[in-house]
Amino acid sequence: MANDQAITDHTITMEKITSLAKRRGFVFQSSEIYGGQNGAWDYGPLGIELKNRIARNWWKEMTQMHDEIVGLDAAILMHPRVWEASGHVENFTDPLVDCRNCKARFRADQIPFENIESKTCPECGGELTDVRTFNLMFKTNIGPVETEEEKNVIYLRPETAQGIYINYKNIIQSNRMKLPFGIAQIGKAFRNEIVTKNFIFRTCEFEQMEMQYFVKPGTDEQWFDEWRKRRWAYYEKLGVKMDNLRWHQHGPGELAHYAKDAYDIEYLFPMGWKELEGVHNRSQYDLTRHTEYSGKDLQYIDQEDGNKRYIPFIIETSAGLTRTLLMLLCDAYDEEKVSAKDAGETEGSAEDWRTVLRFHPNIAPITAAVLPLVKKDGLAELAQEIRAELREDFATDYDQSGAIGRRYRRQDEAGTPFCVTVDYDTKEDGTVTVRFRDSMEQVRVPRAELVSRLRQEIKAYKRTK
Ligand code: ATP
Repeated sequence: MANDQAITDHTITMEKITSLAKRRGFVFQSSEIYGGQNGAWDYGPLGIELKNRIARNWWKEMTQMHDEIVGLDAAILMHPRVWEASGHVENFTDPLVDCRNCKARFRADQIPFENIESKTCPECGGELTDVRTFNLMFKTNIGPVETEEEKNVIYLRPETAQGIYINYKNIIQSNRMKLPFGIAQIGKAFRNEIVTKNFIFRTCEFEQMEMQYFVKPGTDEQWFDEWRKRRWAYYEKLGVKMDNLRWHQHGPGELAHYAKDAYDIEYLFPMGWKELEGVHNRSQYDLTRHTEYSGKDLQYIDQEDGNKRYIPFIIETSAGLTRTLLMLLCDAYDEEKVSAKDAGETEGSAEDWRTVLRFHPNIAPITAAVLPLVKKDGLAELAQEIRAELREDFATDYDQSGAIGRRYRRQDEAGTPFCVTVDYDTKEDGTVTVRFRDSMEQVRVPRAELVSRLRQEIKAYKRTK
C-alpha cells in the first residue's frame, strides 16, 4: 500500500480529516504535551500556508477586485464601551445546562426542548440543572493591578466587525470614501464557547474574514441581494463542490438583535449542514448605538444629495477563516482507486487507493514539488537548480527520498497540484515531466517554459473530480 494505513471504508469522516491534518502537519492540538487545551489549535507548516493562502485569496476578492473596498487591521483590545454599545455585554450569551449525573454540558438551544422541560439529560437520562445564561466574551483586566473594579475590565474581541464601525469615520476622512463603500478586515476573534467539538469547526480562538459595506438607506435590500450573489460566486470560483452549499435564512426567532435580514451559507460537513458564513443586513443599528455611546456624530454627509446627513445601513459578509480552512479540507478530501496502468504509481500491486486533497492551485499550500527520479548521476543537483528557478514564483517543495510513486502519493495528500519530475531525459534535452495531481496525467515540458506553463495551468484550472 502506498498509504500509511490500509483504507477499507471510503466515507469521509471528521476522524479521517483530523488524522490527515495532524499526520501531514496542517493542524495540531494546542498544548498537546500537557494533555491539550480545549477550543485551541495550532497550525503547522502546511496549515499556516493554507490559511495564509485562503486569507490572501479572500483579500484579493474583497479588496483588489473592487474600487470601493479598502482594508483595515484594528486592534483586538478595544475600549470596553464598544461592547456595551454593540450589545455584546447584554446579549452575547448562550443558554447553558449541565447534567448532574454524567457532567456533560449542553447549549440549551441545541438539545430537544422536551429534555429542557423534563430536565433529563439527552445522553444518560440523568437530571439537568436549570438553564443559565452565560456570556461568551473573554473578560480580563488591563493594567498592573488585578481588581474587580469595572474600570480595569477589557475584553478580547468576539468579532472583528466592531473595529470597522469605530473606524468608519476615520476611513471616510482619510480616504475620501463615498457611499456605497466597504471596509474589509481579517483577524482573530475569541469566544468562550461551551461546546467545542468537531475539530476546528467551533473554537474559542479563531479567525474571521469580514467585510462591512456601508450603503444609503433605502438601497440596503438591493445591496444585500448583491452581496449574497457575490459571496456565492466566490465559493464557485474557489472550486468548492456547490452541491455541498446551501442558503439558510434566519427565521424571526433566530435573527440577531442588530439584524434586519440574515442568511447563512451552510456547508455539508461530515457531521451535517453547518454555518460557514453569514451575510447580514445589520441595518443602522451599530452606527446608531456607537453615536449614542460615544457622543460622536457618525452621520454621513451626502454631498451628492444636497449635503443630507444620515446614518448608513450596513451589509456584512462574515466568514470564519479557520472554519473555511476546515470546509476546504473536507471539500478537497478524496480517496480514489488507482489502477495498475497509472505509470509506476502503484508499487507493483494490481490496484491501490490514494488519498488526495483536490485544492484549487490558488490555495494549495505547495504549488509545485520538484522530484528527481533518482538521487545519483547529477539528477538531484539538476532538480535543485530547477526548484531554484521556480521558487521565486511558486511555493515549492523538494523530495528525493523513496520510490517516485510514493513521493507522488505524499504530494497528493498535501494537495500539491503539480509535481515536476527530473529524469535522464532532462539532462539530454532539457525537458521535465509535469504530473497533474487530479488526473495523474504526465506531460513533457521544456524547462524554459515551466514557469509560464504552470501559470497557465493555474489560471485555467477547473475541478473535474
Ligand atoms: P454559530 O451560530 O456557529 O455560533 P454565529 O452565527 O455566532 O456562529 P457569527 O457571529 O455570524 O457566527 O460569525 C461569523 C462567522 O465566524 C461564522 O459563520 C463562522 O464561520 C465563524 N465563527 C463564529 N464562531 C466561531 C467559532 N467559535 N469558531 C470558529 N469559527 C467561528
